[in-house]
Amino acid sequence: MGRVIVAVDGPQNGGSALTTNETTMPAPFVSKVATLAAAVALLAAGAAQAQSTAPVPPAIDQAYTQLMAAPAIARLLDAVKADHERSIEDLKLLVEIEAPPFKEQRRAEAFLARMKALGLADARIDAEGNVVGLRKGTGNGPELLVSAHLDTVFPAGTDVKVKERDGKLYAPGISDDTRALSVLLSWIKVLNDHQIQTVGDLMIVGNVGEEELGNLRGMKALFREHLDIDGMVGIEPSVDGTVLTLGTASHRYEFTFKGPGGHSFAAFGQVPSAIHGMGRAIAKIAEVQTPTFPKTTFTVGTVGGGTSVNTIAPDARMAVDIRSDAMGPLLETEKKILAAVDAAVVEENKRWGVDTLTVSNKLIGDRPGGQTPTDSPIVQAAVRANAGFGHKTLFRGASTDANVPMSLGIPAIIVGGGGKTGGFHALSEWIDLTDAWKGAQNSLVTVLGLVGVQGVSAPVLEKRAPRAAAK
Ligand SMILES: [Zn+2]
Repeated sequence: MGRVIVAVDGPQNGGSALTTNETTMPAPFVSKVATLAAAVALLAAGAAQAQSTAPVPPAIDQAYTQLMAAPAIARLLDAVKADHERSIEDLKLLVEIEAPPFKEQRRAEAFLARMKALGLADARIDAEGNVVGLRKGTGNGPELLVSAHLDTVFPAGTDVKVKERDGKLYAPGISDDTRALSVLLSWIKVLNDHQIQTVGDLMIVGNVGEEELGNLRGMKALFREHLDIDGMVGIEPSVDGTVLTLGTASHRYEFTFKGPGGHSFAAFGQVPSAIHGMGRAIAKIAEVQTPTFPKTTFTVGTVGGGTSVNTIAPDARMAVDIRSDAMGPLLETEKKILAAVDAAVVEENKRWGVDTLTVSNKLIGDRPGGQTPTDSPIVQAAVRANAGFGHKTLFRGASTDANVPMSLGIPAIIVGGGGKTGGFHALSEWIDLTDAWKGAQNSLVTVLGLVGVQGVSAPVLEKRAPRAAAK
């Protein structure tokens, strides 16, 4: 990475807006050091999104210059704009089909039907429930996976009817990630209508299991089955110009405390309390120290247990989320938390001179982490495409489907599908689709540059040797 300009997460991502721009500082050397110091401090604060202004490698710059100068691509991008209103119909159709974790089937079937209707006749639903359509290139090019997830966080029975107010569309899941599904369909339509021949293959996917306890099962299955995928571009709600290059890893545990229980008065002093034991564990966990950078976090997200107010609790359970931008600190924190829970049980038993309280734990979430280097071709391609649409690129990190390819060392990024969005994971989720077609154009150009377009540009994404099947 060359010079760095740092921007703190903007208001739409819940952060405060502050930008440090080295160009305001006169003496180049001094400003470089000052900017780097500011960058390190902000990165250490874990709130920063780094921005790269290093020149894009000439070969990548040339590919995108050719792409954006080609009349066929200009017509294609006009078609994306012209298809905007129709794509909103796909968005409404899909968002009004509920798709909670592990219940994505109905939406998958609707998405498959749309894919086929728009020209990917061979599309199918795989064993895990992912909708997979392959748009073949002319051959000998890379294979690029472009994906959006089918599932939402909202449980069955949620009112998913779209409501229009103040120029915005409101519905649970409308921006995360249903907009992206409708963008993929729009791309299929315009690529086929304009008979655009890519060099590399596009594997277009609506995948399952991105949210919560879906545990990235869809993406894990895809990379288990397809050993020849050379790169992945996922679509998620993002501010125009942002590129996700860091996959925050997470491990989630459920702890179950079990004891004999008993009458709160008659058995007092003779039996341990599962809830007291859990309480001791939570107090210890709350004191666990983690590094600020790489950002490492933990929380006891849910608790439950107990029989009645006048019963010494025979059972209690809690779910703990542990996350980090690097695997080392994640495993370190995990170790501390597991030890804290064991110590709490020993303490509760000792309090009453018994050994009847036990605890068991289950790994209920395992999202591997990783990173795509910002100077890698797939990232520089997105940087160049963004520049073509007037955006300086901001890099960001989060836990997404890209975690899987990143953890396997396969180039992966997440970009946006256009529009302003908010209220993620809340019933008040909304999307403002004013000029959203620009974001859909921008990301399509990123993708086309990666796989190359016959007679226009050579693929930027490198073809890799197929991976060996995991043992
Ligand atoms: Zn999402």
